[in-house]
Amino acid sequence: MLALVWLGFGLIIGSFTNVLILREGTDALKGRSACPLCGKKLEVRDLIPVLSWMFLRARCRACDAPISVQYPIVEMVVGLGFFAIGSTVMSLFLKLIACAMVVFLVAIAVYDLYHMLMPNAWVWAWNGLALMLTCVWLLQVGADYEQYVLALGWGIAVAAPLFALHFFSRGAWMGFGDVKFALGIGFLLGPYGFLALFYAFLSGAIIGLLLVFFSSERGASVRALVTPTQGSGESAQKVTMKSEVPFGPFLIFGTLLVWFALLHAHMPILSFLGGLPL
Ligand SMILES: [Zn+2]
Repeated sequence: MLALVWLGFGLIIGSFTNVLILREGTDALKGRSACPLCGKKLEVRDLIPVLSWMFLRARCRACDAPISVQYPIVEMVVGLGFFAIGSTVMSLFLKLIACAMVVFLVAIAVYDLYHMLMPNAWVWAWNGLALMLTCVWLLQVGADYEQYVLALGWGIAVAAPLFALHFFSRGAWMGFGDVKFALGIGFLLGPYGFLALFYAFLSGAIIGLLLVFFSSERGASVRALVTPTQGSGESAQKVTMKSEVPFGPFLIFGTLLVWFALLHAHMPILSFLGGLPL
């Protein structure tokens, strides 16, 4: 029952996460949201997470402009993240830190998807919160000081392979934002951080190959079946092996997968393909 409160709280915070993503780089977070096309200010009934988008059938009430599916998806992912955190046995303070981390994870993933860039302030907020969560937890279980040093060490260890990729490819294979972001993965997950990296590369490879296939000649017929209105596909953006695909969303997918599996102790997911025994 209480977990449902966390879900509702998450849906509302998810709504603010959309605002955070949309207004990054602009002057302020204040002021009511408006339709970007006609400028009509949104009414209170247009601000209900997920439901407003559905009732408006993804269109602006005033000018019929389409409203991106990003909005309900972000709201649902943040809502479910809060739900998953709310239903663990962590202390309230740890839950609140964890929820803030979910907000930054989702915001970074969506921003990176659109802009091929991770906002520096968000990456350091994520790193700081991840380290804070681990330190508060270590404090609660009365760990030795070595454990704190170890947490820092795991951050550097998990970021190291990404730094190597970044360094030896001169930034072509891996952005420096991804390297900095991986510090937080190690702070949070320790040795399991490598499992998160594994899932990031695996999911990235699968999606990457699918994108290459669907933009190839052979994929054109499959694409035509899926989206018959899109024509010959000449206008569609071609994706080749050389195209840049942001890695952030995959890093974040891997992190959330391993983190939530650990939180809920779903060992089958962890033991699948090389979970590390602690
Ligand atoms: Zn409008």
